[in-house]
Amino acid sequence: CVNTEDYIVTCGIPLILIEDRIGQAIEHRDRTKLPMWVVFLDLDRFKFINDSMGHNIGDQLLVQVAHRMQAAVREVDTVARFGGDEFIIVLPGQTDETLMMGVLERIIHMVCQPMQINNQEIIITCSVGIAVYPNDGAKAETLIQHADIAMYRAKELGKNNFQFFTESMNEKVAERMYVENLLRHALAKNELEVYYQPKVDLETMQMVGMEALIRWNSPELGFVSPIRFITLAEESGLIVPIGEWVMRSACQQTVAWQNAGYAPLLMSVNLSARQFKQSNLVERIQNILKETGLEAQYLELELTESMVMTEVEASLQLLHEIKTLGIQISVDDFGTGYSSLTYLRNLPVETLKIDKSFIDLIAGDSTHAALIASIVDMSHVLGLAVVAEGVETPDQLRRLIDCHCDMFQGYVASKPLP
Ligand code: C2E
Ligand code: CA
Ligand code: CA
Repeated sequence: CVNTEDYIVTCGIPLILIEDRIGQAIEHRDRTKLPMWVVFLDLDRFKFINDSMGHNIGDQLLVQVAHRMQAAVREVDTVARFGGDEFIIVLPGQTDETLMMGVLERIIHMVCQPMQINNQEIIITCSVGIAVYPNDGAKAETLIQHADIAMYRAKELGKNNFQFFTESMNEKVAERMYVENLLRHALAKNELEVYYQPKVDLETMQMVGMEALIRWNSPELGFVSPIRFITLAEESGLIVPIGEWVMRSACQQTVAWQNAGYAPLLMSVNLSARQFKQSNLVERIQNILKETGLEAQYLELELTESMVMTEVEASLQLLHEIKTLGIQISVDDFGTGYSSLTYLRNLPVETLKIDKSFIDLIAGDSTHAALIASIVDMSHVLGLAVVAEGVETPDQLRRLIDCHCDMFQGYVASKPLP
């Protein structure tokens, strides 16, 4: 892929040419009144493969995918690489839409077949969006944009599927942009606040720590759940200043409590994937500790497994640097991702937080309680302390005690509080 004057030259087709081809297909459709589709295809989890298996394998995979797509389309169709792992396919209609549907299904089917690269079998899936001319746009640019939006929707729906563009998707994008814009100013306008949820020791039933959780009170939108805006903040990069603000506030508050004479507590702060990728992260944390005067031993960072599973080497080094500062590290949401204790053994972490979805099942059938008990046992062997998240009932609490779980958080003790 060569980048010349912003036109990405790929598969021998510069971007300007794909726009030209769409232009031709539009003229053809205007004459014949036959349907015309612009298809946006994006590979699922390509970044993960690229990061974990190496760029050489990633490159070979892209080449194979391109060949497969070329083999799947008809002579009249055009395939272009749009950049990264994104492809555009122009399907001018010859007779009716069922034929085009056949082509589309063939492309997806071919892309998803296992491939052999360097003696390894790799299976990749793709998410696809389709914009139909003229309903979904009059120009190449709009059609590509709308096909891209539809592809995004396909990703949201769990990847490995296709979606036709609809006007409501556009409305969703507009709403996203509106919320993102409000969030951009939320920090400066003092609309963000940090809540704290106690973490309790299951043996002594004493509070041993807190988790800092962000809240957004927007005058325009009302209370917005972090579940809704954290993803948006991640995608837009706003999580970096916001996350830093949370960390600073939480450290300040911890020092204030210590100065007020309370027994020292461990303060846990969530670190987003985007922050974890910041080149000067360690320096920034160090500055916050210096500014607020908090001793490093009272700060804990919560990271998810998937964050450290990508770019493993670099992550490991970063974790060691964070550890050198004297900060603790815990793995959040265990049980929702890869959930590999063997893998965690290699990481410099001291705590594992079992996700609420796991804890919810503990009161049900006995196999679940046994499963949690064995996770706790294995964690202890690996030298990890275990925190149960989202504990809501005394019954769950009793069962966690039986499992020898170390700590818990949840509404049964307290909701997060201002
Ligand atoms: P998380 O880190 O897994 O945080 C735990 C979530 O579970 C919190 O949701 C908490 O309020 C909720 N929770 C705790 N106990 C219970 C319970 O007994 N029952 C139920 N139903 N829920 C319980 P919250 O505050 O809405 O935050 C959601 C997610 O947003 C967090 O999940 C975290 O991933 C993210 N988040 C929140 N604050 C921050 C932040 O400052 N930075 C980053 N990067 N992410 C944050
Ligand atoms: Ca957390
Ligand atoms: Ca969690």
